[in-house]
Amino acid sequence: MPQMREYKADLHIHTCLSPCAEIDITPKRIVDAAVEKGLHIIAVSDHNSAENTQVAVKIGMERGLTVLPAMEITTSEEAHVLAIFGKVSDALAMQEIVYRTLPEGYHDEDRLGYQLIVNENDEILEFCKRMFFGATGLPVKELVDRVHSLGGLAVASHIDREYFSVLSQLGFIPPDVFFDGLEMSAAVSRQKADAVFGDYLSLPWITSSDAHNLDNIGRRYTSFSLESPSFEELVKAFKGERRMGWDF
Ligand SMILES: [Zn+2]
Ligand SMILES: [Zn+2]
Repeated sequence: MPQMREYKADLHIHTCLSPCAEIDITPKRIVDAAVEKGLHIIAVSDHNSAENTQVAVKIGMERGLTVLPAMEITTSEEAHVLAIFGKVSDALAMQEIVYRTLPEGYHDEDRLGYQLIVNENDEILEFCKRMFFGATGLPVKELVDRVHSLGGLAVASHIDREYFSVLSQLGFIPPDVFFDGLEMSAAVSRQKADAVFGDYLSLPWITSSDAHNLDNIGRRYTSFSLESPSFEELVKAFKGERRMGWDF
């Protein structure tokens, strides 16, 4: 019987590429903060882009932290969905699909904030002008199916929130949309989540920080009992083959 260990995972962290995030939440500082806070696995999940994931994964590898490349994709119904991958190339393939459906035009950084692509030394490589802030053209079912075809996990973001969640936008989880899990935001307690969303316990639940600044990293995390802090082991947990849970 292989040895299982408890790993703390914060699977929803924005970088300075998200216009609504602070500009100092760079991949390097995210990894530093995650290590300092005792996290073992994180996912870097910017709105509709994976451009900062490669550098984050590289820095994580150097520091012994599992960093998963991810995106928080806005469906055409304006619901947020976390797409979490094991490999940067898969995240970038998903990004290509997303970019094809983004609205035309330029991001207004004066009004909405900068979208910074950075390197491992926190140097700015590009002020990205794509329109990450709005919805993609991907309906939720197509999005989830695309994520699965690339081997990723699809988790409905912050379903307790009254905006930009699958429940706020659609009112229910369509039976033909096969999410791997549901996320509860840092705003809801376990007790309240159980009381309000108990009908959805057939899917695994995670909770994450949804950090847009360095302080919030790790304010919420999900515990996983795994053989190793790898994406493959996480997938087993989402399938019910490993223990996972949280109680905040
Ligand atoms: Zn969101
Ligand atoms: Zn988010």
